[in-house]
Amino acid sequence: MSTRYIIKKIIDRLNLYSILLFNPAKEYFKCPICDYSGPFLDIKPPTGLRKNAKCPKCGALERHRFQYLVMKNILSNIDTSALIMLHFAPEPFLKNFFFNRFGQYETADLCMKGVDHKVDLQELPFKDQSYDFIFASHILEHVLNDKKALYHIRRILKPNGIAILPVPLVANKTIEYPEPNPKEAFHVRAPGLDYFDRYKQFFTKVELIKSDSLPMIYQLYRYEDRSQWPNKQCPLRPTMQGERFIDIVPVCYA
Ligand SMILES: [Zn+2]
Repeated sequence: MSTRYIIKKIIDRLNLYSILLFNPAKEYFKCPICDYSGPFLDIKPPTGLRKNAKCPKCGALERHRFQYLVMKNILSNIDTSALIMLHFAPEPFLKNFFFNRFGQYETADLCMKGVDHKVDLQELPFKDQSYDFIFASHILEHVLNDKKALYHIRRILKPNGIAILPVPLVANKTIEYPEPNPKEAFHVRAPGLDYFDRYKQFFTKVELIKSDSLPMIYQLYRYEDRSQWPNKQCPLRPTMQGERFIDIVPVCYA
């Protein structure tokens, strides 16, 4: 365990105590990943404050809890013991979950250390129809030629294979950036609710699962003030009204 990780854990714990001390009325939620029950932490990325975002016990964010619930549901109906899975930019929250279920589990990323395959999504070196299940969350918003990436994902997927390809939804209509924005972790676009239309030309069926279709107790919304966009950090994200926003997990069938 690194010193940085331990310090982060201590800060989260202190934040939690201060929430309970100064705001005892704060809403209680449940984390499906670690079974924690209690208030979630607010976080402050460069793009602005996100309320009730983080589980103080395991660190899972809204999208991790949501994706975990969706995966648990999908995989409960499939015998995965003989299936091969490829996990891009593997999240620690989901790694063990997948590893324990699939017959063969492999990881991939362009920059991350310790993965099985150091690869670029736009030029995947794998043979056609190599994998039964592909998971790549919050990656395509970093990829300039996303159509090429989608082509390769579809190409390496076996018949009856499934690809789960969520992106952050931060606009109504997708906006392409002229260059990657370092303040948004080098995103090359602001994906909108229309973004998953791009998947339809590559996959037979794209099922969109919405976060508000699952129980509120898991807190799967993004509580975010988007009326302050565009700003210095995200100059091309459009203004959006409302105080909380839904998320979507696209389930793509080969
Ligand atoms: Zn948790």
